[in-house]
Amino acid sequence: MSRLGSTYSTEPERLTQTRILGVRVDCLDMTAALAQIERFVDEGGPHLVATVNPEFVMQAQKDREFARVLQDADLCLPDGVGVVWAARRQGCDMRGPVAGVDLVQPLAAMCARRGRRLFLLGAAPGVAADLAARLREANEGLEVNAHSGAPDPAHDLETLHRIHDHHPDVLLVAYGAPAQEMWIDRLKDRLGVSVAIGVGGAFDYLTGRVPRAPAWMRRARLEWLGRLLRQPWRVRRMAVLPVYAVKVLRAPK
Ligand code: UDP
Repeated sequence: MSRLGSTYSTEPERLTQTRILGVRVDCLDMTAALAQIERFVDEGGPHLVATVNPEFVMQAQKDREFARVLQDADLCLPDGVGVVWAARRQGCDMRGPVAGVDLVQPLAAMCARRGRRLFLLGAAPGVAADLAARLREANEGLEVNAHSGAPDPAHDLETLHRIHDHHPDVLLVAYGAPAQEMWIDRLKDRLGVSVAIGVGGAFDYLTGRVPRAPAWMRRARLEWLGRLLRQPWRVRRMAVLPVYAVKVLRAPK
């Protein structure tokens, strides 16, 4: 039924999914994303959740395997203003980005409330364990464990052993993209978790190892600029952003 031709409904159909330069993005805001992840937890797994930012989209243009992993993911959340902007151009009605770093605390709260188990994997030695201690402190009864690990296959057995020991429902993987998504995809049938989510540098931010941009910058949707000012080495990675913007503007809507 055509959107405009219907005599029965004046409500336009909501777009639930779009593609940005070929990469799928689900049109969900934070509340809807958390509800969907909770459903994945109830269903059992494995489900892969990716938080797609413009660097993912550009990486997927030249890396077919990463593009395939994103295509097969159960959820591709819009991480960052660049993806929200492009998705809105395509007709996605979304309130704002769903960044990996902003998922961690609500997911920990959900796990505590629902008696689900959480595992934090990645970042430098001690960082995930520090975050686990903070989350335990903030969420009474939360069962959370952590391991720094590494994405290299040589570490798989040790990492799987640590994960299996804890029997988590939710696994957060902080190896940075695309390593974390490739790692989850490679091992997803052996993880025994309901949902695995790549969260990039989230553990560093949440433990204060890397300060987040000030609140006013985040409100002004300038977190990317704050990251660049605090971590100037990102300039090389972010060099793809103007190319991304031009490609999105040139792409047919
Ligand atoms: N990291 C890791 N093992 C590796 C490479 C990276 O645990 O072999 C961690 C690193 O310590 C950091 C995270 O992966 O905590 C990547 O953070 P970054 O801010 O680069 O990710 P982004 O949020 O930009 O995807």
